[in-house]
Amino acid sequence: MKPNGTSLNTRSNGHHPAYDLLHDVTVDEMGDDHVASSIETPLRDDAFDLSDEAKMDLIEGHFRHIMNILGLDLTDDSLKGTPRRVAKMYVKEIFSGLDPAKKPQAALFENKYQYNEMLVEKGITVHSHCEHHFVPIIGRAHVAYISSGKVIGLSKLNRIVQYFAKRPQVQERLTVQIANELKTVLETEDVAVVIDARHLCVSMRGVQDVNSSTVTVHYGGKFKEDEATRQEFLRHVSEPTAAL
Ligand SMILES: [Zn+2]
Repeated sequence: MKPNGTSLNTRSNGHHPAYDLLHDVTVDEMGDDHVASSIETPLRDDAFDLSDEAKMDLIEGHFRHIMNILGLDLTDDSLKGTPRRVAKMYVKEIFSGLDPAKKPQAALFENKYQYNEMLVEKGITVHSHCEHHFVPIIGRAHVAYISSGKVIGLSKLNRIVQYFAKRPQVQERLTVQIANELKTVLETEDVAVVIDARHLCVSMRGVQDVNSSTVTVHYGGKFKEDEATRQEFLRHVSEPTAAL
């Protein structure tokens, strides 16, 4: 007997896939609850079929359209360059971390000093964007690891944080993505990541709370299993940063 005719592909409505993605979720509820759907950034398979140049051309056109809809006069000298400026900023700067080709290549070094204690890099600037509202998330990341025999350059820790921050994000996912990358690169589970950040979608709109910040944590290996290790990390993080 034949199936009752229900199509497996419920999305075959002729729209571009991006349109379907948008309309598959209950936009308002999802947005204000800031629910993360997965650890991996939800990207389509064809995400990098277009060149950066082609993406900028398309975004420029669409952003001009948004500004036009809002009633802005695009012939004004102050506004006419904005669509291109926004397109370039999206592709080349604030969302450049979507592209795996831009992932920092972290060269590993032998741990010649036999430094087997905890290394903490704290106060790393986090500038990201909420994927539900496309407004900034601004804060600090504190990361730590215990060497498995390999070390990486200190600036690479900052670069890894910045790479994953340069995506439309939710803070929980950002935290786990950074932790997972550190585990892979450093070949150890002994990794900790704390992010303390303010979400402009909470402070400038919605509930308009300007005082709250969001703290997310990920503890792996010894940081998870050993209370003393975790406490030592938290003590370092809470101590004042060295003055220059
Ligand atoms: Zn938001």
